[in-house]
Amino acid sequence: MRPTRALIDLDALRHNYHIAQQRHGGHLFAVVKANAYGHGALACAQTLSWDADGYAVAFLEEALALRGSGIKQPILLLEGIFDPTELFEAARHGFWPVIHHPAQIEMIVKTDLPAPLRVWLKINSGMNRAGFPLGDTRRVWRQLMVSGKVEECGLMTHFARADEPECDATTQQIHAFDKATRGLPGARSLANSAAILAWPDACRDWARPGIMLYGADPIPGEGNGLCPVMTLESRIIAVRDLPAGEPLGYGARFIAPRPTRVGLVAIGYADGYPRSAPDGVPVAVDNKLTSLIGRVSMDMLTVDLTDLPEAGIGSIVELWGKQVSVNQVAQSAGTIAYELLCNVKRVPFIWNKSD
Ligand SMILES: *Cc1c(COP(=O)(O)O)cnc(C)c1O
Repeated sequence: MRPTRALIDLDALRHNYHIAQQRHGGHLFAVVKANAYGHGALACAQTLSWDADGYAVAFLEEALALRGSGIKQPILLLEGIFDPTELFEAARHGFWPVIHHPAQIEMIVKTDLPAPLRVWLKINSGMNRAGFPLGDTRRVWRQLMVSGKVEECGLMTHFARADEPECDATTQQIHAFDKATRGLPGARSLANSAAILAWPDACRDWARPGIMLYGADPIPGEGNGLCPVMTLESRIIAVRDLPAGEPLGYGARFIAPRPTRVGLVAIGYADGYPRSAPDGVPVAVDNKLTSLIGRVSMDMLTVDLTDLPEAGIGSIVELWGKQVSVNQVAQSAGTIAYELLCNVKRVPFIWNKSD
């Protein structure tokens, strides 16, 4: 079998959850949408089942999978419901849909439901992606309450720039949200991971940490004590000596500036390692740092072993994990850790046991 795998450290996941808890206080929805950012939604949800106050997913099917695996806590549907049947199912299973659009209110008013609903009303406080206008907050809240279908209504918003501690957009969003919701009853939920770490003013009744649970700091370099959960690793499967001046790989992107010992690694962009990674991105070979050289291919990539004479066929290569930060790979490749983590595929996943 090809020696390539994603190792998922579930103890690290619990460690990171506890950091979120300490930093925020109150309750947390552990965000496990998109298969827990590529880490395995069921394994991650079950690992946190003693700790998590609730979970958040993007849509109904993701929530049903969690319920089906025995998860008892509240589950927030971040995109809400898409049709009356979904609304019915959400009520039946006790999921908490986010209500961010008038069509969803209309569905609530018109659909006979098997149980009272608990919803979260999403206010657009400045990101301008989803949510009701600030000025509509009271009217929409009243519409929900007089529908007779809603037993509790939380109030939430989402930040566009919480990962920029020097930028006052988040403060403005917090103030706008507070002003629009002043006096209304109900729990508040504002903070994503970056806000939990950088904006104590955003800490209210419930937070929604995602990326920080997986150990990628949303504000790289802050030293928040997060522990990477995923290690993506493979092995050296061939070695070759490349004379100075010789090209390496597709497009001859890399030309050996000196006699270069090249290690061939059994992982490529079809596994989720970014093809856009340039020469020089760090990789760890047998726990020593070196770099990617040459363009990443579909099933393979090449690394520089010139200064690692001990390394050879069979050496373990960490593409990201506890030695190579996924943030650093993402930054070099012109993307974010979220995208890299969500995109790992074709490789076997191994979850460590957590007690
Ligand atoms: C995905 C998501 C989160 C989690 O964000 P992180 O940056 O991963 O912490 C929180 N809130 C909403 C509305 C989301 O869509």
